[in-house]
Amino acid sequence: MKRAAFFLGVFVFLSNGLMAVQPTPPQVTVATQVAPGRLIVTLHNQETRPADVLVEPGPLSTVTFPPFKVSLAAGETKIVPVAATTGSGRQALGLETTVTFPGRVPVRGQALYEPLAADARSVSKVTFREAFLSRRVALAPATARVGLNLGTSWKPVAPLPKSFPVAKVGGSVKLGSPLVSTAVNFQKLPRLALAPAGAVFQSRIGRAATPFQALDKPTVKTDLVLDTGLRVLKGKWVLKTAEGLYRSGALWVVNVVQDQKGKWIELGWTFVNTFGDWSVTLSSKVQKDRSVKVMYTVANDFVSLESPDDGEPYTWSEDVKLEGMVTDMGRSAGDLTTTGDLPGLATLYAGAMDLYALLLFNGINPCKDKPYSVVYPNSEDTGHCQTKTGKAWSCCESGKDGKIYLVPQHAAESVIQHELAHGINFQYWGRWPKGSGGSHNLDECYTAGLALAEGFANFVAYWTQTKDRGQASVKIPIFGYDIEALPNDLCEGEENEMRTAAVFWDLHDTHDDGPDEDDEDILNFDKWGGVVSLYLGNAKDKMTEYIDLIVKAGVGAEKRVQSLFRRNTIDF
Ligand SMILES: [Zn+2]
Repeated sequence: MKRAAFFLGVFVFLSNGLMAVQPTPPQVTVATQVAPGRLIVTLHNQETRPADVLVEPGPLSTVTFPPFKVSLAAGETKIVPVAATTGSGRQALGLETTVTFPGRVPVRGQALYEPLAADARSVSKVTFREAFLSRRVALAPATARVGLNLGTSWKPVAPLPKSFPVAKVGGSVKLGSPLVSTAVNFQKLPRLALAPAGAVFQSRIGRAATPFQALDKPTVKTDLVLDTGLRVLKGKWVLKTAEGLYRSGALWVVNVVQDQKGKWIELGWTFVNTFGDWSVTLSSKVQKDRSVKVMYTVANDFVSLESPDDGEPYTWSEDVKLEGMVTDMGRSAGDLTTTGDLPGLATLYAGAMDLYALLLFNGINPCKDKPYSVVYPNSEDTGHCQTKTGKAWSCCESGKDGKIYLVPQHAAESVIQHELAHGINFQYWGRWPKGSGGSHNLDECYTAGLALAEGFANFVAYWTQTKDRGQASVKIPIFGYDIEALPNDLCEGEENEMRTAAVFWDLHDTHDDGPDEDDEDILNFDKWGGVVSLYLGNAKDKMTEYIDLIVKAGVGAEKRVQSLFRRNTIDF
């Protein structure tokens, strides 16, 4: 049975240019009012069927409240006051809903992320910019932009894969392995010291994120003098992601510059390695008696996480005085906690780099000639990825340099992996499947092209986050659905994006979904990247157009492949 697609006003998108947008949730809207010790949640069911709604705090929420359930008739509005705990200073109300319609499985509903300014007597809503971005400070002198080179070496686009099943895309990527960082238990660092009094925390280009916290004083190790005669500056860059929890700032860029007569001179740069360590041999231009500025930028060959204000990657910085031939700055940490400098950034970066690593180690070049630009947080101010009613949403814009925009409530690994998959798709094909782009939700049918593009992007998130492909049940955050057991009430056929995602998954997995009239459904992709290569290496417009290719690749007999498609409601 095919259900007609329906579009409700709030999620119809502006049509200036093609964009692949994040799936939209059911139309059960949620709004809040905040007061000290109290939260008032207004839920409005705009659907034509009753809904049970579970409301709970989101992962980035610093406001806590007990989860609660509300039943709403079609069209009904309910106002629910609950007790809530809010700290002082910069706070954020993150709120997630799970919606269950009669006889259907629960699906993720609308989510909110609302920064707050709070003290003992009052709580007020502020913008993300007021809460976080405005804390960045401009870099002086004003000529800072001139002559500064970020220093990253963007690789050219590699040739497209011609062969199947495993795309061997040329162009080696010479970065260290971020896989190592995911395998390393980052040690808990000593307690953060307060920033030195009067310190100015500035960024490379015009702005800075933050008060940045120096952990150790610079120390001199005179026994490590190098015979180049050049000075060396080194340190360790880590990200504070939660109370007591740190990750290395692997593959961030470190730039060292110096203010010489009112002009910034670049002295050297490097990537942070997977353990957080970095070391820069300073140019002979360094003036040893003046302090240098060290800048940590969240950008590498694959991804650049950028500010909507200036389109530049976020940067943290600190000043240091050189004290000998080798200055070891010790550990420095950027505060990416929920009340820190930029909540959500650590999650997005981790999600992006997990995808990067998986592609890289499966011989699929994840990089293009410039990194994928991810603008975070998206807001009404950017004018990008906006609904027709003027609300900001998340999407990937088309084009070689199409940017990804993410709203704060989408600061999740699944979302950035989904949107990057769209970007990578466009990069390999120079287009998206015919009929893709625009508003969609997970359970409806649209065009086969939209379902193919979105199904692939959904699959990529499952593929990246699921380490065991033999599991009988496969779930990831945000999507909610068990991709091995989609509910029967989803729209059927290759016009539904979860059905196509499930086909991709069943091609990839080693789990037998049970007897069918013809055959089992396990194919013999020996490479983890096989299915991703199949897709990226072969531009098509609907899922069934891949059947011949799969059969030709010899990974499964025709009957077996057809059986796999049929199990996912795709008949032909
Ligand atoms: Zn999408």
